[in-house]
Amino acid sequence: MSFYRAEDPIFETYVLANAPLKQLASGFDWVEGPVWFGDAGCLLFSDIPNDRILRWTPGSGLSTFRQPSGYANGHTRDRQGRLLSCEHGGRRVTRTELDGTLTVIADRFEGKPLNSPNDVVVRSDGSIWFTDPHYGIMSDYEGYKAEQEQPNAVYRVDPATGAIERVIDDMHAPNGLAFSPDERLLYVADTGRMHRADQPDIRVYQMDTDGHPVAGRSFHKLEPGAADGIRVDGDGNLWSSAGDGVHCIAPDGRELGRIFVPERVSNICFGGRAKHQLYITATTGLYSITLNRRGIQHP
Ligand code: MG
Repeated sequence: MSFYRAEDPIFETYVLANAPLKQLASGFDWVEGPVWFGDAGCLLFSDIPNDRILRWTPGSGLSTFRQPSGYANGHTRDRQGRLLSCEHGGRRVTRTELDGTLTVIADRFEGKPLNSPNDVVVRSDGSIWFTDPHYGIMSDYEGYKAEQEQPNAVYRVDPATGAIERVIDDMHAPNGLAFSPDERLLYVADTGRMHRADQPDIRVYQMDTDGHPVAGRSFHKLEPGAADGIRVDGDGNLWSSAGDGVHCIAPDGRELGRIFVPERVSNICFGGRAKHQLYITATTGLYSITLNRRGIQHP
């Protein structure tokens, strides 16, 4: 069986027949949140139940970056290259400064603790966008079981004032998120369909002139599984985690093709010297595949 399946002929040009999926490391409990550090030549990712952030260095292998990690989940880098992390345990978003100290970006809204920040992106204006579903407080597996005090929502942190604003509250369980290349669209994965069949997997919002998401609508409902982590390539195709691997979805919402992964995929990110390698966290394993695509990842 091939390692991929094209739904549209163009997908045949996105994969390389002699660059199949590779498993880089295994033996984790549940991995998520890959983020590429081109300057350090390594990938960071979270093994959430084991409360650690791991580092994968091509040619050298695996090491521990941070443990305990506050049960960290999703990561990204801001426009200055600093690590931003969503912590289930700390119920907060942090920034790792260049000297290694942590700055809390968000941990409360309207006086109450956040649920369990899940995934985070940064827009070119420096605003920080994160999702806050309930997954990290549902049990003691990926954090600490606790009462939910906020609706599942998406938040924006103002780059000038640090003020936190709830910007999306019409989703069941917002999870991964990504901007289109021109930042006129915001895609947000909704893993709520794991609990309610009528929920779309991925929604898309128009960004208004004030930089706020409006006019949300269903973008794509994938099968099997549900979208968790999503990333965009340079042509605006959306790459999404799925139950059987990674699906590639055109800007018009059509599936172009999929890469099969032997474990359920949680998150993905582009990396490597040309951002042409897709790193995949999938249940107990870390995988990668080299594509004939270049992803968008900042910086
Ligand atoms: Mg997630």
